[in-house]
Amino acid sequence: MPDESKNSQLDEIQQQLIDRIAKNDTNGFKQLLGQLKGGVNFVDDSGMSILAHASFKGNREAVQLLLDMGADINLNQHGADYTPLHFGALSGNTHVCRLLLDAGINPNSINSVSRTASQMAAFVGNHACVETINNYVTCKSLEYYTQVHGQQTEPHIPPALLKPFHTFVTEINLHPVRITLNAQNLGFLKILPNLRKALVLMCEKEMQKTHDINELLAFKYHYQGWIVGELIRCDEQFKAQHKDKSEDATKNDFVEVFIKRVLKENKLNQLDYVEFTVRECVREFPFRECTVFRQIATQLGSKDAASALVILRNAINGMRGFVDENSYCSTCGQEKPDKKCSKCKAVQYCDRECQRLHWFMHKKSCPRLLAAVLAGAQQQPKGPIDTSELREELSKLSA
Ligand SMILES: [Zn+2]
Ligand SMILES: [Zn+2]
Repeated sequence: MPDESKNSQLDEIQQQLIDRIAKNDTNGFKQLLGQLKGGVNFVDDSGMSILAHASFKGNREAVQLLLDMGADINLNQHGADYTPLHFGALSGNTHVCRLLLDAGINPNSINSVSRTASQMAAFVGNHACVETINNYVTCKSLEYYTQVHGQQTEPHIPPALLKPFHTFVTEINLHPVRITLNAQNLGFLKILPNLRKALVLMCEKEMQKTHDINELLAFKYHYQGWIVGELIRCDEQFKAQHKDKSEDATKNDFVEVFIKRVLKENKLNQLDYVEFTVRECVREFPFRECTVFRQIATQLGSKDAASALVILRNAINGMRGFVDENSYCSTCGQEKPDKKCSKCKAVQYCDRECQRLHWFMHKKSCPRLLAAVLAGAQQQPKGPIDTSELREELSKLSA
């Protein structure tokens, strides 16, 4: 039985809050929120909660505020059984999906047409949302690795690093540079062997489950652990080469060496080291009977195979269909980066750090790319204006 008091007519403030969310007027929404009486768990005439509205608009700030104020993730009375995660998945905003997942929403809930949130996201082409949901595990499920078991004298992951470990594990970007930068930014550089061990155990535990084995996640953990292992190897080589220098002078420099090793292109603009190490990583996967292993191995062996990293990404996260390579950071593979090379404007980066790390390669191609861009501008045909092209140009100008 729905609670009649919740389903009754909205008061003035409630109605205005929903209107403001619908217009994505976040400031107006925040101002009004203080005047709300009786909490944030109410639904509109159609049975949609205000959290569902905010999720549907992909409004990260409003979703966070509502969750902080005790919004019920399970409140819905609209009959189609869409959870706020279904709405968030439709909005395409990965942050909103992530907030709802962290709040404990069940990603396996199905709507009235038997689709999960991830399936709805796939249906409308929101691939990053699909990956965010499919790569998600709860923070609680990782507590095991912050505890002492059996012969251990200390846990693999210090309890204080549980949240950073959760962030590391649920990352959807599988580029080796992103994994490396995450390890650095999340505070794992001093305990890389522990991080590696925890990932190896996670892979094993996933494959030893008695039901609902997720081979894709097992393979992903194996891969993340492999890249961490490569980083450790680089650290050891670096230390051996710089034995006589003081510890402080060489601090973290192995990260830089490793990233350059990853980004070094051969004459055909291919990443030799990445190709080699990803193939080695696949060969070393211990569970050779599972479907994902056989699928990847077959694809790696086929003629005209894509790069090993692309094959691995597609196997773990699914094909993305048409992919515009220009919408990724040239250093770490992050989607929709904010910055461009200011000279050629042909390559994109997350931030100054990513640009700096890539410059040793990009400085060779930057003049050539700039020349190509200028030549393209001169040769533009004077045909009828294509509106989609125009829109793209305008968005570039405002970026
Ligand atoms: Zn980047
Ligand atoms: Zn450039």
